[in-house]
Amino acid sequence: MSTISPCVSCGACCAHFRVSFHWIECQGSGGRVPEDLVELVTPSRVAMKGTCGSNPRCVSLQGAVGASVACAIYEQRSDPCRDFDASWSAGEHNPRCDAARAAHGLLPLTPSDYPTLIPLSDASLAAHD
Ligand code: SF4
Ligand code: SF4
Repeated sequence: MSTISPCVSCGACCAHFRVSFHWIECQGSGGRVPEDLVELVTPSRVAMKGTCGSNPRCVSLQGAVGASVACAIYEQRSDPCRDFDASWSAGEHNPRCDAARAAHGLLPLTPSDYPTLIPLSDASLAAHD
């Protein structure tokens, strides 16, 4: 079974929050995140460039928020990016997802945004019922 993530037509959280994490997640420290994409925010923490100001937008966010987006460093993104669940994607409400979407004029997600696709074999069976 598979679903299409509503995140691919959103991106609001990448353009709403400061995305900060310990510097140990950077490549120079053995982590994944490219160093040139972060800035130091405390002696032990860095943030994705573009996310610290009053009008945040991560430097790695590609596309138009609310239309079509992608993360330019998807495989190298930090833990906070990996840990941020779209509301209801794991069966639980995430008010921070709602807040980011609202800031960009997008309605909150609901469980119905995750339709379960019927595998082809099951769909064939269903068609013959
Ligand atoms: S690194 Fe990617 S997932 Fe993380 S905030 Fe930036 S664009 Fe979003
Ligand atoms: S705000 Fe929610 S729906 Fe939008 S990209 Fe982030 S996690 Fe996905």
